[in-house]
Amino acid sequence: MLSRHSTANDTSQGFLLEALQIRKTFGQTEVLKGVDLQVRPGELVFLIGPSGSGKSTLLRCCNRLEEPTGGTLRLDGVDLLANTTDINQMRRKIGMVFQGFNLYPHLTAMGNVTLALRKVMKMTKAEAEARAMENLGLVGMAEKANSFPSQLSGGQQQRVGIARSLALEPMLILMDEPTSALDPELVDSVLEVIKSLRNRGMTMVIASHEMNFARSAADRVVFLENGLVVESGTAEQIFTNARHERTRQFLRQVR
Ligand code: ADP
Ligand code: MG
Repeated sequence: MLSRHSTANDTSQGFLLEALQIRKTFGQTEVLKGVDLQVRPGELVFLIGPSGSGKSTLLRCCNRLEEPTGGTLRLDGVDLLANTTDINQMRRKIGMVFQGFNLYPHLTAMGNVTLALRKVMKMTKAEAEARAMENLGLVGMAEKANSFPSQLSGGQQQRVGIARSLALEPMLILMDEPTSALDPELVDSVLEVIKSLRNRGMTMVIASHEMNFARSAADRVVFLENGLVVESGTAEQIFTNARHERTRQFLRQVR
């Protein structure tokens, strides 16, 4: 993992991820209307905004799960939209964690984490299992390595999902509402894991409605509405001193 506040490639001015003026159109509808998202190594950035504002689309554009209609996208100084860039290779540097846990039901926690290590990274069984145990340990799931998803709570499944992402040693992890499918009492275990990753220097962008968590853990908060960034700032600034009335109104509603 990158250490917090280390500097990235010179060409990217210290930003690990630079998404500039990202546009995305579905049919006639412009869902992202020129969005900027710049993330420094080690930062935890929260993406907040009403449902339908474009948070998921923006995250999906960042690893080209959705093809942006326009804009600039760089990871560690590499242009992700250039024809010459091997997007599959670059995608391996970007972890994705979704609302649903998307674990394979017929594989154990260990099996879920080792799968990509074996298939994509071509590790031996022993190498993959060692790497998997290390990462299951980081999310507090080492003891459940041999459990199947059906034997795990939602929070535990999500932690396995996070371990699976981590095991591939991404530069950046994008999380789309990682706790919103969880029963309330299971949310904290996942937030604790996210906090521990932040303390280890992992760079993360998280779309989430967990405002209290954002307030306590985010380095920066970006408020999106109707496909545009209304404002962005430190958690402190956004939560106690938002510049725009629209931001203050949104925060009042979700509290
Ligand atoms: P959020 O994650 O903030 O709730 P989304 O990025 O999911 O917002 O959606 C933003 C807008 O884009 C919504 O109006 C949604 O209906 C639309 N949208 C998202 N994906 C598609 C798609 N594949 N085709 C058409 N419209 C889409
Ligand atoms: Mg969404």
